[in-house]
Amino acid sequence: MVLDSLGKSLRGVLQKIARGGAVDDALIGEVVRDIQRALLQADVNVQLALELTQRVKRRAKEEKPPAGASLRDFLIRIIYEEVRNILGKERPFELKPKRILLAGLFGQGKTTTAGKLARHFQKKGIRVGLVAADVHRPAAVDQLEQLSKKVGCDFYANRAEKRAEVIVTEALAKFPQHVAVIVDTAGRSGIDPELIAELTRVRAALQPDEVILVLDAAMGQTAGRSAKTFHDAVGLTGVILTKLDGSAKGGGALSAVAASGAPIIFIGTGEHLDELERFDPTRFVSRLLGMGDIQTLLERFEELQDKEGAEKAAEHLMTGRFTLRDMRTQLASLGQMGPFSKLLSLFPTFGAAKLDEKQMEDTQSRLRRYRAILDSMTPGELDEPHLVKGDRIHRIARGSGQRPQEVRALLKYYDSTRKAAHGIASNRKLRRQLERQFGAGGGPPA
Ligand code: GDP
Ligand code: MG
Repeated sequence: MVLDSLGKSLRGVLQKIARGGAVDDALIGEVVRDIQRALLQADVNVQLALELTQRVKRRAKEEKPPAGASLRDFLIRIIYEEVRNILGKERPFELKPKRILLAGLFGQGKTTTAGKLARHFQKKGIRVGLVAADVHRPAAVDQLEQLSKKVGCDFYANRAEKRAEVIVTEALAKFPQHVAVIVDTAGRSGIDPELIAELTRVRAALQPDEVILVLDAAMGQTAGRSAKTFHDAVGLTGVILTKLDGSAKGGGALSAVAASGAPIIFIGTGEHLDELERFDPTRFVSRLLGMGDIQTLLERFEELQDKEGAEKAAEHLMTGRFTLRDMRTQLASLGQMGPFSKLLSLFPTFGAAKLDEKQMEDTQSRLRRYRAILDSMTPGELDEPHLVKGDRIHRIARGSGQRPQEVRALLKYYDSTRKAAHGIASNRKLRRQLERQFGAGGGPPA
């Protein structure tokens, strides 16, 4: 994965939070130091890393977790949000016929990226025309021609012409309508007036929808300065950061470019034509932190608003009147530190899963399936679980896009939960003990 070592250190931090003792100043302090070290090792700018960790610290101390959420989960969410924020926002990028100008210095990956983009459009059924407007290096024209053959797209070059803008005008006249036009331009060893003048002329001829800077992630933090200089000179709509596969400094490049104000649209993760990925900070950070689907975690916070329902479900569980409706609430509120989740942790099926990457992913995907299934049941079925059998199982499976086995697995889980609950409910000693331990309403201090 891109930024392996940063991901590994940050996951270590999260595990420390998940496994650690009380979430107190000492733990927060330790966590913040760990994050800082991890960011600096990934070449993130010192100032940026410092600001991020200070924000984490301040928020962990000042903000209150939503009712029912544990401080632990809340701290994890804060870290997630702050790391995501230094990567900027996702920029929409519609795949439709459009004109794209690629700019950048020598060797940053422009020509390769032109080929990758062409493949990306073609895969979505959009025809592409590649234009070789690198008038300084004949080899670049051949390179692009090769790529266009591999991709199977249109190609235009005019090896006798030395004015890039003329080539672009010729290409536009020659390509049919409804073709995405991608123009590969010449680089320089540095951003000089000549380069800017050439780009400006090409831009006037092309009237591009996108002016994209191609930047090598190995530049680390200096990528940010480069992005800003290009942005000020020619006006960028975005950046493609290449070679993230090979760079330990990727964190520096990503965060510095994001800070420059030019959004990152794609990242290049290898030399092959398919190794281009859309850059979405949310998904990127989820992967980095090893939280298969961070969205689920965030949704869980929203669902905590349904605390009342959760308490009622807990009560039902205690008294043995536990329905599928209660279980739906239970699944939604999973992970909270109230008395309910403590009860839940008595049941082996879900309670133990905490942030071990694989476990977390499995649990979350099972949760998603179970919730889809429960959402496909009628109110009657939720309240009277014994109704769910035979044809109904098939209907619910179809409605939720799951297999009937999965519906049966859920029913089995429901049954074992109910039985265990019944055991607790009928065991007065255990019940009293639980009540003493967790109180009737309030949970243990987080
Ligand atoms: P240009 O001078 O900007 O047009 O750069 P090129 O497209 O010719 O690429 C320069 C070198 O970088 C080539 O060897 C490419 O194979 C390599 N390259 C481009 N993008 C990537 C990437 O995302 N990952 C890796 N590992 N190599 C890349
Ligand atoms: Mg090139």
